[in-house]
Amino acid sequence: MRRVLRAAVAAVTLTGAGTMVAGTPAHAALPGWGRPTVTAAVPQPGDPGLGDTYFPDYGNGGYDVEHYDVRLRYDPGTDRLSGTTTILARATQDLSRFNLDFLLDVESVRVNGWAATTRTEGAHELVVTPSRTITKGQDLTIVVRYAGVPSETEVGGYTGWTRTDDGALAVNEPESAWWWFPSNDHPLDKATYDVSVSVPTGVEVVSNGVQPRPPLAEAGNRSRWSWRTTSPTATYLAFLAIGQYDIVTDTAPNGQPVVNAYSTSLGELAPAARASIERTAEIVAWASGIFGPYPFEAQGGVAGPVDGITFALETQTRPVYGPGFWRRGSNTSVVVHENAHQWFGDSVSVARWQDIWLNEGFASYAEWLWSEEQGEGTAQELFDFTYASYPEDSEFWQVPPGDPGAGRIFDDAVYDRGAMALHQLRLAVGDDAFFEILPAWTAAHRHGNATIAQFQALAERISGLDLTDFFTTWLFTAGRPDVPGSAARKAAPPVEPKSWAKIREAHRLLAH
Ligand SMILES: [Zn+2]
Repeated sequence: MRRVLRAAVAAVTLTGAGTMVAGTPAHAALPGWGRPTVTAAVPQPGDPGLGDTYFPDYGNGGYDVEHYDVRLRYDPGTDRLSGTTTILARATQDLSRFNLDFLLDVESVRVNGWAATTRTEGAHELVVTPSRTITKGQDLTIVVRYAGVPSETEVGGYTGWTRTDDGALAVNEPESAWWWFPSNDHPLDKATYDVSVSVPTGVEVVSNGVQPRPPLAEAGNRSRWSWRTTSPTATYLAFLAIGQYDIVTDTAPNGQPVVNAYSTSLGELAPAARASIERTAEIVAWASGIFGPYPFEAQGGVAGPVDGITFALETQTRPVYGPGFWRRGSNTSVVVHENAHQWFGDSVSVARWQDIWLNEGFASYAEWLWSEEQGEGTAQELFDFTYASYPEDSEFWQVPPGDPGAGRIFDDAVYDRGAMALHQLRLAVGDDAFFEILPAWTAAHRHGNATIAQFQALAERISGLDLTDFFTTWLFTAGRPDVPGSAARKAAPPVEPKSWAKIREAHRLLAH
């Protein structure tokens, strides 16, 4: 389901067998076969990356994944993870070999039943050489058997896998999959998932989508939990939460299943977590009225354990929240933020990580719209207060949200200046156009990928305005943009909106 960024290299496969030898194509001498010269397809290695401007070696070239079947066994006591991932893919070129992004120890790889050889390369590349060459368009069934201890598997001293007292969390961005399943790890290659994990009975496993069947008893006092997501999902939005959880199921007003899970370690934080996450279906219904139809098949949230992640992530159909959001009571701002991402980030995903504003700016602005709806401060009041809270000489203004740098994709500026940019866009085009642009955007790129340039083009088409200066100033230029009335605001500092503390609290934990 990947849309290839770079122009495909012109190549013609003559026999479909992928066995052409370099040199003059056999048909070159046929009458009427003139220039331009057609190059015979010699199977080539798939690229080790997709050429992302920030993370060039993330993802891989030469194939497109349709489905991951991730079948695992996990033991919380040792953090040992083992299992088999079966990848259904299609070759997008004649391939002599290809890469997967993965870190755990691989026992074997088979491609369409035939044993392949493997070696590791770079920080996270698994190079797979099949015993037969692969032809462009060929269906591939890649079976990878593996095992390891993810919390002890590090890249540059870092692991994206969080081991906890009672289990683990595979929740991270942009690097998460490397520690639990081999993949084409870039949002450009979305796929569907079946995830099943065998754990000691009494341990819960939560993942994306719906449960195709209840946990199944297995020998040795174990249970196998199964989850399925049928909508295209970016690799970093697939997740695992394993441990002691109270699971609450319900049906949303739109008829979809709701599955919420609360770590039993939350203790006195549990009521605040519930008072926030149990409002997910209400928030999704509200957001659907602004952003367009909810793009997925299930809803919910996971309140992670006290010793787990410190942030929250918009894992598809079911965001995962760290415990810090509940320390000062309920926080619906973060629930709005992560669920707004279901449209902005999960359904419409970045085509390159540089365009992260399309995720964080929009999810942050959704918090302002929610505040307005709840009567806790209008978006204009939040703009004024946010703008005034960063002095003109603050470092904050030096990071342009449209190109923050690979090490700063989660900088405050991407969130706060990102939301401010959307508010200024709203003022520039007017409410009618602005609230037409948002659902038009989510419809145009539903379950796909998009760029900031495409958003600008859509906003210009709907508003009829040339927005070049606006986007250049707000997204791509360092320094605090001037806004009408900013001199007056300096003289009279704006009043703090009621929602500010919760929004600030959420962003402190989200941006880093
Ligand atoms: Zn976010």
